[in-house]
Amino acid sequence: MFSLTNTTNLIYDATLALVYPQECAVCGASVESRFDGVACARCWQATRVFSNADPLCWKCGVPAPVKVLSEGRHPGEQIRCRRCDEASFTAARACGLYEGALRASVIALKRGPHVPKNLALLMWELCQHEPLKRATLIVAVPLHPEREKQRGFNQAAVLAEALSTLVPLSVAEGVLVRTRHTGRHRAGMDAQARRESVEDVFAATRPRIIAGESILLIDDVFTTGATASACALALTCAGAKEVLVMTVARPLHS
Ligand SMILES: [Zn+2]
Ligand SMILES: [Zn+2]
Repeated sequence: MFSLTNTTNLIYDATLALVYPQECAVCGASVESRFDGVACARCWQATRVFSNADPLCWKCGVPAPVKVLSEGRHPGEQIRCRRCDEASFTAARACGLYEGALRASVIALKRGPHVPKNLALLMWELCQHEPLKRATLIVAVPLHPEREKQRGFNQAAVLAEALSTLVPLSVAEGVLVRTRHTGRHRAGMDAQARRESVEDVFAATRPRIIAGESILLIDDVFTTGATASACALALTCAGAKEVLVMTVARPLHS
């Protein structure tokens, strides 16, 4: 299917090809390859990208503090931060930390609906391993329709579309809607306040499509996990088997 997003990407690619090389959004050096998007290869190198071997909380994907690592675990024992126990998703993973090239890519994605190949491949890589490996259907975290109209696109949907060209999963559109406009999270809001601010914001609208599926929920950034958890609650209440969350980036702490 030839969607509007694809068309937009093609036009954007063509524009981009004319202006390359461009300045790295992180350090200002020139970006040699379109593969890297808005950041240069050196900034990508300096950005912490998680590997499958990284010690992360099995559920929320937060990097384990050194203290936990030094405590010694039984072989195969899962690391759990326990702060995510209440979250409604099964597991969440990010490509890496919200810093450097990943942060610049997330910011660029709010301006133009283009996912650099480098980023798409990092997302693909996450899908090759447990727990995201078992996903059966992709769903993007929706923007409020008003905000989507202003921006012209939903960056989570653009990420979902880019991923779906690399994995044998389709994107289910219109299965999750944002019913209320939430303002930006205010500085100083704690985890509880953030959770409450997004509760009841999402509703699953087409339960027959998501029933029994392991949903791969896509968003750009995982901050406290409140949004992901609220989406997961709506999806599982509507019959999804489980919700696995994938984001481009996350902070070092939740
Ligand atoms: Zn750079
Ligand atoms: Zn956790």
